[in-house]
Formats: sequence, C-alpha cells, structure tokens
Amino acid sequence: MAKNAEGCAIGIDLGTTYSCVAVWQEQQGRVEIIHNDQGNRITPSFVAFTDQHRLIGDAAKNQAAINPENTIFDAKRLIGRKYSDPIVKNDILLWPFKVIAGVDDKPVIVVKYKGQEKHLSAEEISSMILTKMREIAEAYLESPVKNAVITVPAYFNDSQRKATVDAGVIAGLNVKRIISEPTAAAIAYGLDKKTNCVGERNIFIFDLGGGTFDVSLVTIKEKVFTVKASAGNSHLGGEDIDNRMVNHFVEEFNRKSKLDISGNAKSLRRLRSACERAKRTLSSMVVTTIEVDALFQGIDFSSSIARAKCEEICMDLFEDCMKTVDRCLVDAKMDKSSVHDVVLVGGSSRIPKVQELLEEYFKGKNLCKSINPDEAVAYGAAVQAASLSEGIKNVPDLVLFDVTPLSLGILTTGDIMSVVIPRNTTIPVKKTQGYLTSIDNQSSVLIQVYEGERAAVRDNNLLGSFSLSGFPLAPRGHRFDVCFAIDENGILTVSAEEKTTGNMNEITITNDKGRLSAEEIKRLIQEAEYYQAEDQKFLKKAKAMNALVEYTYKVKKAMKDTTVSSKILPMDEQKVRDAITEAENLLADNQQLEAYVFENCLNKVRSIFEPVVVNRKRARNDEVVALDD
Ligand code: AMP
Repeated sequence: MAKNAEGCAIGIDLGTTYSCVAVWQEQQGRVEIIHNDQGNRITPSFVAFTDQHRLIGDAAKNQAAINPENTIFDAKRLIGRKYSDPIVKNDILLWPFKVIAGVDDKPVIVVKYKGQEKHLSAEEISSMILTKMREIAEAYLESPVKNAVITVPAYFNDSQRKATVDAGVIAGLNVKRIISEPTAAAIAYGLDKKTNCVGERNIFIFDLGGGTFDVSLVTIKEKVFTVKASAGNSHLGGEDIDNRMVNHFVEEFNRKSKLDISGNAKSLRRLRSACERAKRTLSSMVVTTIEVDALFQGIDFSSSIARAKCEEICMDLFEDCMKTVDRCLVDAKMDKSSVHDVVLVGGSSRIPKVQELLEEYFKGKNLCKSINPDEAVAYGAAVQAASLSEGIKNVPDLVLFDVTPLSLGILTTGDIMSVVIPRNTTIPVKKTQGYLTSIDNQSSVLIQVYEGERAAVRDNNLLGSFSLSGFPLAPRGHRFDVCFAIDENGILTVSAEEKTTGNMNEITITNDKGRLSAEEIKRLIQEAEYYQAEDQKFLKKAKAMNALVEYTYKVKKAMKDTTVSSKILPMDEQKVRDAITEAENLLADNQQLEAYVFENCLNKVRSIFEPVVVNRKRARNDEVVALDD
C-alpha cells in the first residue's frame, strides 16, 4: 500500500458505464490501477437512491433491478446538453428513471431519496461518481487526494468539458486538466511500447465503450503526442448491443408466452442484465444460454443465442463504427496504410466481429491488445496527472497536442456559418480571417461565434457574441478582421479589428450558457457534503446495528449453553431475556431510528449481561464466557 501520497494527483476515466482510477507510483516508476472496495479495478458509473441511503458504484448497480426508477446511470450522456437536444430526448425513452426540463432547458434527473423527491443535475451525479473514485484512491493511498486529471471523449464540446470540470469541483477535486480519452489511451500505449518506438508512429485508437464510440489518430514522436483527428458517435456502444438483444428476447418471450414485457421496467432491467452477460460470453463462445427466473408474471424465461445471430442483429451498428473509422482517416488526410498500430480501448472492443471488421479494414494488421481496454484511459490520465504535479520525478515527460472537436466560426449574411477554425485543428492555434460590411455606411458589426459542422448557423451552437463599432463612413464591402485564438487549455478568444481606425474588441468564450453558475456550484458542493454526511450517518447506523445483532447473538448463544444458564439466577436470566427482546424489537423496526439508539441499547444489554456472568464467576468461581466485542 502506498503511503504519504499527500499532494499526489490521480487520473480518472469517468466513463459512461464504468469508471476507473489510477495513480503514478513514483518509487516503482509505473502506473497502479486502483481497485475499489469490492476488489474491482473498474467501478460502475451508477448512483442509486433508496428510502434509507445513497449507493454509488457496484452497490448501486447490484440493486438496479429492484429499484430501477431511482438508479441513475449514463449521466455522462446528459452532461453539458440541453433537455431539448434530440440525443437526450432519445435517451430518455430508454431510461427507467425520470428526466425533466429544468431552468434554461437543462435536463434534471428526478429521484426519490428517503421518501422525498430530489432534483439532480448530470453534473451532480457525475460528481458523486468522481467522489467515489476519489475515495477509492484515498483508501489506497491512505491520504487525502485533491488533484486529478479527468478524461472526456474527444468529441465533447466546450460546454461538456466545462460541465465535467464543474462535476470535479463539486466532488472536491482540483481538476488539473481535462484530456481526451484517446490521447490518454495513446499515452498508455506509447509508454507500453516505449522500447520499440522509433521515429514517428501513427496510432489509431479505436475506443468502443458502453455508451460512446470514439476513434482518433494520434502521432507519437518521442515525447510529443499529437491528436491528428478524432471522430465519434456519442450514442453508440455496448448498451446499444444490449438493447438489440433485449428487443430480440422481448419478441421471443412474446411469441412463446403471448405476454408483452416491454412496458415493465423491472422485467426489462433483469432481462438487460442477462443480455449483457450473454453478450460478454459471446466474445469467447459461439453460443450461450440466457435464463431469467420469473421474468414476468412468474414465468421463467430460458433461451439461447448464437454469436452469429447477435452479429446479425447488430451488424448495422458495427458498420456505423467502420464508417466513423473511415471519416477519421479522411479528416486526418492519412491513408490507412500509414497507420502503424491499431489500439483497442473500451470493453466493447473485445467483440470478435468488431475486431474482424477492423482487421479487414486495415488489411490484416494485427490489433494491439497488450493494454487492458478497460484501463488504458485511466492509465494515461494518471501519467498526465503525475507529469503535471510538482515534485514528482521519474515520470515520463509528455507534450500533448489536442485538436478542436468542432469547427468554429461566425455568422455571415444569409445565416451562413463561416468557418474560421475547422474541426480537428491542432491546438493551440491562432487564425485571422477578413470580412466585409454588408451595407453602406455601416458603423458597427455584431460578431456571433458558433461551433458546429452545419452550413446554416441556426443548426450550430452559439457560443457568444460581441460588437465592434466606430467604423468610418464607407460603402458596403469595407474590410475588418476577425481573429480566433485557442490556448492549450482549449479556451477560445475571438477578437475583431478595423484597421483604418485601429478599433478593436474581443471576447473570451467562457460558454457559461447552460453551465452551472458559481452560486449553483456552491450550493451543489453543500449538497454533496449533505449526501456525504447522510452516507456517513447511514454507515454509522449500519455499524451500530451490526454490533447489536452480533452481541445479542452471542448472548443468546451463551444463554443456550446449559453450563452457563443453569448457573444464572432466574431473576437475572429474565432481565437478560427482556433486554434481548427489547434489542430485537429495535432491530426489527429500525427505519426511523438513529445510530445512537442502537449504541445505547448495546450498552444496556451489555450492562445487564456482563454483571450477571461476572456474578456467576464470583459465586461459582467458574470460567467467564468470552464475549469479544
Ligand atoms: P467501457 O465503457 O469501456 O467500460 O465498456 C463497457 C462496455 O463494454 C459495456 O457495454 C460492457 O458490456 C462491454 N464489455 C465488457 N467486456 C466485454 C466483452 N468481453 N465482450 C463484449 N462486450 C464487453
């Protein structure tokens, strides 16, 4: 176990379905993937709320089938998005939990916690998962952790990245940097292959996870990692395959039993878990069975599925993946033959058909499977976290160059998007473009900055606007310049200048639209502390109840032992039995009780029982029954 890790920074892969945390071990000069309290190296990105407490990770996922409405997953799909976003609308149809529109069209997750309705943002749910990952690291490092590097998909736009930073802040983390997942995977791969990395290597990162699909072309030249191009689909992953399998078996159940389970959240959740297991099995077997006891109205369901059938019902998804691969290479202006290595990342990249299509596409190239696809991203994030930390020696020196995930430009006449910085441009970058006034004697212009790939600006995302005034009287067609500059943290500044007068104005795009305000973040930090305190309260109560259960059990066992009970005075025996009954009643009806009630009760049972045993010892000079606390 690593100790004295104060000040050390961790790397967190905040995944849609699973999250993973890692740390750079200075002494050993390598990354350690940290296991959670269940001994697992990855933790489900699930948060659940019950009448009694809040659960995060494995505990939340394990109870999902019995509490589907209050078990939240996929929060990453909501982060930085609007409720009216078609992607969000689509997702809501598939989720068993409720999402409503909040202030400024922000999606709000509705749950029932301790009998009361609670409204939560995606940032809050993500912050709970981040808190869990921080605690996992703290338990391992035996010291508080403050600093972290968090990864996001390459296609995350500015507001999604900033929303992720907000989630980190709510979780009490100092987010040192947000890096894209493929870059992190490339770092892991680059270190892994360090010894035989000669000259420049073009690495194609294929990351197919639970809910997202991301591909990137990264070149590695010595310590410099440059993302050349990225492409992805925020709505493609293992869960879509699970959905296809669920639909397949819903139809089969309908055919066999004439019953439709498609409206029953609990049955669907149980069927989905069975399908997910079957899908994993099909990555190594050609056929598997699926069994769900009492799936619906007490009827058991049992069936089998062949790998070929699963491939058939998911083929269009796999083909979509390959189209994205192609788009990325076109954007990178690189022929597939120039790709040196294809690195598999994300749990779903284990699917044989996916690997087969990739090998075929890259003309028989062997796929790199040497790094664990579930852990590569956290691994790379941990290396980056260490390299950004002060005082850590022995860490690889890295220089990362990311790209802009979306094109950036301004509105021009006719609602047309004029792109200044095309997507996949390496950052930092600075670019100036000249524009002309559209009417005679125009004294000012309004610069409206957009991001997106559509030709009409109304289909893109407005980031901000500012005006430049004081133009000299001139016929239409008078020139002014607009300059876009993005620094290494992805912060965009747009300035405009009219050269003859030297008038200038600029705006730094903070993209606060749809983002949490400082007050909201403050409130959410307080709320996170409230949830934390509630969790502690629950743990304290659970521990107090366990101690009471254990003690009463031992007392009852001792009382059953005739060598003990026969020597106790009947009056004392009755007192002990009454105390046990009282304890058992409390334990049975524990809902509204606090930890101290059980602690007091334990003290009472103990204070009654122990003198009785001691009396017996004094009276008979017998052995005292050992009751270890
Ligand atoms: P990630 O988001 O990278 O953690 O990937 C999680 C996804 O990978 C989930 O949809 C899992 O069902 C899927 N997955 C994990 N292992 C396998 C496997 N052996 N075969 C197919 N899918 C898998």
